[in-house]
Amino acid sequence: MPNTIFDNTEYAFAYRSDFELKRAYYIFKLINNNWLVKTGTSLAAKMMDMGLTLPVVIGMRPTIYSVFCGGDELDDAIPIIKNFGKYGVDTVLDYGVEAKETDEDFDKTALEIKNAINFAAKNKHVPIVCSKFTGLLKFAILEKLHAQQTLSPTEEKDYQKALKRIYGLAAHAAEKGVSLFVDAEESWIQQPLDDLTFDLMKQYNTDKPIIYNTVQLYRKDRWTFLQSAHQQAKQAGFIYAVKIVRGAYMEKEAKRAEKMGYENPIQTSKANTDTDYNKALEYAIENLDTLAVCVATHNEESCRLAVEKMEQKKIAKDHPHIHFSQLMGMSDHLSFNLAKMGFKASKYMPYGPVKDVIPYLIRRAQENTSVSGQMGRELQLIHNEIKRRKI
Ligand SMILES: Cc1cc2nc3c(=O)[nH]c(=O)nc-3n(C[C@H](O)[C@H](O)[C@H](O)COP(=O)(O)OP(=O)(O)OC[C@H]3O[C@@H](n4cnc5c(N)ncnc54)[C@H](O)[C@@H]3O)c2cc1C
Repeated sequence: MPNTIFDNTEYAFAYRSDFELKRAYYIFKLINNNWLVKTGTSLAAKMMDMGLTLPVVIGMRPTIYSVFCGGDELDDAIPIIKNFGKYGVDTVLDYGVEAKETDEDFDKTALEIKNAINFAAKNKHVPIVCSKFTGLLKFAILEKLHAQQTLSPTEEKDYQKALKRIYGLAAHAAEKGVSLFVDAEESWIQQPLDDLTFDLMKQYNTDKPIIYNTVQLYRKDRWTFLQSAHQQAKQAGFIYAVKIVRGAYMEKEAKRAEKMGYENPIQTSKANTDTDYNKALEYAIENLDTLAVCVATHNEESCRLAVEKMEQKKIAKDHPHIHFSQLMGMSDHLSFNLAKMGFKASKYMPYGPVKDVIPYLIRRAQENTSVSGQMGRELQLIHNEIKRRKI
């Protein structure tokens, strides 16, 4: 493995005890098995469809849930947040429940996000709370809005309720001075997410970045979209805040495009995704006066590029308009080494009942089987640290 500025495993895993490190090693070894993950996740998805939740929960709680999630409740996550904070790494709270369909569930999610905002306002290691609009609003309504179809009277009523939830949360975040991330989701519901987020930014990002949209650079059209959204915000006089990601729904996007006979919106190669991601990254760093960016990636090359570009442009490592974020359980070598160097870094921490975060867990596992390399690297780094500690 080549030596890079991120290879210091002592810093990367200092927050893990010997026991925790070894446990992580065995879990990553399991996840690293492509066949097991493929069979396991498709079986889990089938069992969930059939209502057989319990065995899936039992199988996932001690394994991938313990690696990728903070706990059932916010309180369960406190020791982990404190531990990350000791090493200069912040936490982005993500109530991981998604794909819900009833008002009761949406209200519950909104309340959880509000509680997370209150928690963040009092905790210096939690500057940001994340939201997924499909946790607050029916997918079918978003799909219709995206396709510019008219909502039925019932849908319109539901939509108005959802807007109240969303605008209420944004106002609360602004009042408490906590940033709110809006995750990017499937391309066929993305337009209303972009529109709503843009409107919220207009209201709340006049002085500092409160509301962040997410741009998925695995989409062919997003590099152009990013520049144009930023230019519009600049003209309107507010900070365009954006989390840049590559994108998590590649297989789903390809399947739908094929089934419905339209051009797959996803880039034709990984290299194209990387090119657009790095172009977006450089563009963001060049425009930090009017743009705030969260560099959300596990890609070492992109992180190295960001560090180099910031050094070149003599941008302070703790500039309030740029920070790095990796998912909990992944790429600690980036988060903890970046924090050690003085950059702002965070872990994205989903929490919530195991049965409700299963779609997220399945995505994490599948992402690592369809995209080779990441887990191999994760395992290798843990292995190096175990050897270094001689345990
Ligand atoms: C903090 C954080 C927040 C996130 N929030 C979101 C979110 O809101 N919405 C969302 O969708 N995802 C989100 N993700 C997940 C993200 O989109 C990626 O799936 C994940 O981070 C892997 O990409 P990477 O940049 O880390 O690195 P890499 O491992 O270098 O890239 C893998 C990614 O490249 C792309 N890719 C792989 N193969 C190909 C190919 N053949 N052609 C084209 N593209 C390809 C895919 O996007 C794949 O996920 C988030 C990730 C992080 C770290």
